[in-house]
Amino acid sequence: MIERSEAKGPGGTPEQKIDWKAEASTCVELLRDLIRIPTVNRGTSEAGDANERVACERIADHLTAHGIDSRIVEKKKGRGNLIARVKGTGKKPPLLLNAHLDVVEADAGSWKHDPFAAEIHDGYIWGRGTIDMKHMAAMSACALTLIAREAKEKPLDRDIIFAAVADEENGCALGSTYLCDDHADEVRAEYMLGEIGAFSLHLFGRTFYPVQVAEKGVCWVRAEYRGSPGHGSMPDPESAVLKLARAVERLGKTRLPMHPTEVVRGFIEGLAKELPTPHKHVMKRLTTPQIASLILDYLIRDPSQRRSFSALLSNTASPTVLRAGSKVNVIPGRASIEIDGRTLPGQSQESFLAELREALGEAPASLEVIHSLPATEASPATPLFEHLAATLRRNDPTGVPLPYMIPGFTDAKAYARLGTICYGFAPVRFDPTHEISFSAMYHGHDERVPVDGLGWGLRVLYEAISGFRG
Ligand SMILES: [Zn+2]
Repeated sequence: MIERSEAKGPGGTPEQKIDWKAEASTCVELLRDLIRIPTVNRGTSEAGDANERVACERIADHLTAHGIDSRIVEKKKGRGNLIARVKGTGKKPPLLLNAHLDVVEADAGSWKHDPFAAEIHDGYIWGRGTIDMKHMAAMSACALTLIAREAKEKPLDRDIIFAAVADEENGCALGSTYLCDDHADEVRAEYMLGEIGAFSLHLFGRTFYPVQVAEKGVCWVRAEYRGSPGHGSMPDPESAVLKLARAVERLGKTRLPMHPTEVVRGFIEGLAKELPTPHKHVMKRLTTPQIASLILDYLIRDPSQRRSFSALLSNTASPTVLRAGSKVNVIPGRASIEIDGRTLPGQSQESFLAELREALGEAPASLEVIHSLPATEASPATPLFEHLAATLRRNDPTGVPLPYMIPGFTDAKAYARLGTICYGFAPVRFDPTHEISFSAMYHGHDERVPVDGLGWGLRVLYEAISGFRG
């Protein structure tokens, strides 16, 4: 834990006396309680799925104990969303903190420690949701109580809202989307801080803090292949199944064209600037579409890094669901493939589908879009972004904050519809000497958050809000 005493707070105002050790341990205990509530989102409509309401109630108790009112709203029974607000004078529009409370499943047998026991080992809290993203729920609740205390001394210029939401892991319908549709006035804000960003990323001896400003769009597609049905005893090279197999194979071998966006270019150049030779030269050239493929294939050795950078530079298409046939001796007349397509900001659905057709090679009988969401992008040229970067630098002078894009999507998609500028800012610092891949822990085994790094994150989050209050 970093302990400092300053006469001035982050906004230049006298800082309230905060016992950071005590605040950090409150945050740790709140997080551990939330981990022990297994809000697993199985994506079923059965009663008892996820049941975020129980986690909302735990947070509501914490807020009530500190004199903050909150309310829980549900689109579906048990799928709670908590909303709390610390009122300001209204001189400036609100700032929203957002965290989702649902988690994905955990295969307990593959974990070193019980994923729902929140045990502490080796300086880490272990458990499903420790970084995705109950840590942000716990930090936000604790930061809110500090802000409420501060507001009693000097009124805030803007309301600070906290939303802890359901259902992010299954597309947000019962969570942030529902709030933005049915409770928009309660969550409307100028800015939102949420998933994913401000975690320390250690690369070749340097520390970076990516702060999400953009996320890719979604274009899920079903392609159907047709052929003549027939008897399995007489193979047909033009059967629907074999056409599909050829298409899948081609798709797996094809990288869609590179379109580095301004944010991605800035992120890669920002990394390159700090890295030692020869990595900096390799990294810099990733933004040149003509040679990026060669660099990805031959110079970036780590497969997970290769996949991450590849996803930042192109639209992507992953074949995920294959359907064909039901009887071993019958050649089916139809075979279909579902493809998880992700599109870069600036790319249209049409341009993505054209790239996909080209990559499949074998033309499908039909290509149907089954679900789509636009990419979102917020400018990093705002007073808040500047302030977030300065807060990170002050709390870790060795770290370099950089705006970046995530290949997935978050609750930001819903809030962006209300005109909110969304940044991924859920700060955690990992020990650079521990070889832990942050991205591998997302939905992976042995998800954990460092106890010290969480206390650090609470302080950074508090300073980010407190310094932007007036
Ligand atoms: Zn998440």
